Amino acid sequence: MKKVEIFGIKFNNLDLDEALQKIKSFLENGKQHYIVLPYSEFIIRAQQDKEFRKILNEADLCLCESRGLWFSLRFLGKELKKNIYGVDLILALSQKLKIQNKKIFLFGGKEKVVKKTGDKLGECIVGTEHGYQDLDKVVEKINKVKPDILLVALGSPKQEKWIYYNLKKMPSVKVAIGVGGAFDFISGYIKRAPKFMQDIGLEWLWRLIVQPHRFKRIYNGVIKLGCLILKEKISSHIHNS
Ligand code: UDP
Repeated sequence: MKKVEIFGIKFNNLDLDEALQKIKSFLENGKQHYIVLPYSEFIIRAQQDKEFRKILNEADLCLCESRGLWFSLRFLGKELKKNIYGVDLILALSQKLKIQNKKIFLFGGKEKVVKKTGDKLGECIVGTEHGYQDLDKVVEKINKVKPDILLVALGSPKQEKWIYYNLKKMPSVKVAIGVGGAFDFISGYIKRAPKFMQDIGLEWLWRLIVQPHRFKRIYNGVIKLGCLILKEKISSHIHNS
């Protein structure tokens, strides 16, 4: 599969339908897989955290989560078909999997948030565990219900590292996905940005308004990444002229 690279992170070039097809094939081939959904701040973190970069690049699928990052790639002449929001991927998966009788486990978020997300997604959810407990003990709880898919919402890079080091201990899990704040949105605990803001890449501004404590993450994602991109654009311009 041809990948698109930006600042050392390699992305798969898939739209939502193609990603779902890929996940379907992952569920059938008997092996274990994990999927990462980077947004802008991941790129900055991966520049400093080698372990995190390796985890992102070893993922079976690396899908661009944010519209802002998608625009940034485009600005540098690196075209990706679409950005794929974690929320949209989860909703599509839970719809599809009902038909196929696959089981999903939700891990992470506050207790009431993860429970409400489970209620919303319906019968394909076979268990939920909140993300504010001894994380090592959760493996045992997950193994009791043997899910096919595990969605992990512990924030980044905690969730990617947890998946990387624990997936092998949960043999029933064929696909694990790090989904960030997706349960907060699906449960309705945090309102999603209006569609027009999503479409023009301003979801970060919405999150800054509704979750001001995310300022540092947003600063890293928007300002630091913006500077990196400009530097790259200027140096490629100098190189080509
Ligand atoms: N979270 C958790 N345990 C933790 C830290 C965070 O379960 O120790 C949850 C948090 O409640 C939220 C999700 O992880 O539902 C994503 O957190 P955040 O918005 O900080 O991360 P991001 O979306 O930026 O990766």
